[in-house]
Amino acid sequence: MTRAFPPLLVLITAISLALSPSTGDGQSIPNPMSSWPQHSKERPRPPIITPGAPALPVPPPSDAIVLFDGASLANWKSDKGAPAAWRLIDGAVEVAAGKGMMFTRQSFGDAQLHIEWMSPNPAHGTDQDRGNSGVFFMGMYEVQVLDSYGNVTYADGQAASVYGQYPPLVNASRPPGVWQSYDIIFRRPRFNASGHVQSPAIVTVLHNEVLVQDHVELVGPTANQSRPPYAAHADRLPISLQDHGHPVRFRNIWLRDLEARP
Ligand code: MG
Repeated sequence: MTRAFPPLLVLITAISLALSPSTGDGQSIPNPMSSWPQHSKERPRPPIITPGAPALPVPPPSDAIVLFDGASLANWKSDKGAPAAWRLIDGAVEVAAGKGMMFTRQSFGDAQLHIEWMSPNPAHGTDQDRGNSGVFFMGMYEVQVLDSYGNVTYADGQAASVYGQYPPLVNASRPPGVWQSYDIIFRRPRFNASGHVQSPAIVTVLHNEVLVQDHVELVGPTANQSRPPYAAHADRLPISLQDHGHPVRFRNIWLRDLEARP
C-alpha cells in the first residue's frame, strides 16, 4: 500500500532542500554550528529540566582506570609536573584558587569519562563568576563546569556546554552543594601526515543522566572570545580540570580508554 505525502511535508522538504548546501550529488551537508555569534547573550538558553533523584556515586566498571577515588591525588599533577596542589576534603578534591589546573599523569585519546562535581554552597557571584571550572580533554577541549542552577549566563558557556561552541540541549543542573555527574564520550580529532584535520573531535555528554551533547563536532579547541582552528597534536594528552578561582569539588573520577572507531 502506498501513501501520499501530506502537502505540507512536501513543501517543507522542498524548501529545506533548496536552502541546504549540496555536494552536487544531492547529499546535503548539515551546518555543525548555529549562526549565533559566540557567547551571544541573545541566544536562547536551553530549557530547564529537573533531573531524576541523584544516585551517586556511580561505581566504576571493571575495565575503568580510576583517576580519583577520594583518597589520593597520585594520578594527578600540577601544570609544572609537581604533585597536584588541590585540597583533599571529605572524599573529594577541591580547586585551590591560584594553584593552577590539575592534570592526569597519564595521557588519553578516545575515552569515556565519569566525573562527579559539586558547586560551592552557598553560591557566590553571578554569570561566569559562579562555580566555574571545567573538564578539558587533551588540555584544549572543554566541557564547561559552572553553577547554572538559577544562574544566567550565555548559552554556550553554561554548565555542560562545549565551551564557546555548543550550548547543552537542556539545563539539567542540580543546586549548589548537591553532587552532579557528567558522563562524557570523547573522540579525539584525527590529523593526516601533513597536519590537516581529517576528522574533528566529537563529544557526547550526559549531565545527571540526561543527554545534553549529542555527538557534536568541535570546530577546534574551545576558547574564550575566539574559535581557534585545529592545530595537529599528539594522539594522547592529559585530561585536566580547570582552576577558575572557585572552590568547586570533584570526586569519583574514572575513565574507560576507548579503541578507535572502526
Ligand atoms: Mg570553565
